[in-house]
Amino acid sequence: MDLQLKGKVIIITGGAKGIGAAIVHACATEGAVPVIVGRDAAAGQALQAELQTSGASCGLITVDLSTPESCAQAIDQTLKDFGRIDALVNNAGRNDKVGLEHGGPSEYSASLNRNLVHYYSMAHYALPHLKQSRGTIVNIGSKTAVTGQGSTSGYASSKGAIMALTREWAAELLPYGIRVNTVIPAEVMTPLYRHWLDTFPNPEEKLQTILAKIPLEKRMTTAEEIAATAVFLISAKSAHTTGQHIFVDGGYVHLDRALT
Ligand code: NAP
Repeated sequence: MDLQLKGKVIIITGGAKGIGAAIVHACATEGAVPVIVGRDAAAGQALQAELQTSGASCGLITVDLSTPESCAQAIDQTLKDFGRIDALVNNAGRNDKVGLEHGGPSEYSASLNRNLVHYYSMAHYALPHLKQSRGTIVNIGSKTAVTGQGSTSGYASSKGAIMALTREWAAELLPYGIRVNTVIPAEVMTPLYRHWLDTFPNPEEKLQTILAKIPLEKRMTTAEEIAATAVFLISAKSAHTTGQHIFVDGGYVHLDRALT
């Protein structure tokens, strides 16, 4: 299937690692120009060099997205480097465990800045350019928005807001033909997930417990499976899909517990 993404400029926040890096790879494979926006300079440079060696174009902007100014800078730099923006993938985030008991109002606000506010800021600053290209937005959410997890108010509420904003932006942007959708992962082995798993006394035992609860094939979703859905949602092949929350999770959130 030709996704008609050749030459399209696609910003991916948190694109240096994990799910973001898989989306960067998938965009490059389709002949698009992924622009990695993230704070890990070394990981970003390594991925950019890998893609350029294989003949693909790839942009890199090293910023921490926790301030609106850095988001504006990322959009400005993309325009300077490539002259247009065809899609925005809001993906950067981290389950930072700011809870009700272990946390407080200022930690909670800081968590919203790390996980939510930059989704809005990136969309806000990209909007004039997405209007010109009749572009798309894909957000990456999390199952915690609908299942809860415990001890992670900041992250869970950010991800809940991202689902609400997906509907809200899809409605607001109808006049411009800009589609907005969210892909919702549950369990994907990425550097972030590995780091979390390694906080348990017996990580392998914990992993087996988790795998046993994933209905389809008792395995993690791969980052490439999340990326494939994201790239489809960016592409014109999903031209009549907007405002949707798409769970790519092997049935983890919605299928009957009796099946596991
Ligand atoms: P990851 O392996 O940590 O990769 C995320 C990348 O984003 C990292 O390079 C990280 O930089 C960067 N990043 C995070 N916050 C940033 C910020 N404020 N400014 C700039 N860069 C930032 O994470 P992942 O597992 O791929 O997660 C990607 C998305 O999927 C997140 O939104 C996460 O909530 C969501 N998700 C993941 C899972 C899962 O099972 N993995 C499940 C549900 C939802 P550093 O390395 O410097 O932190």
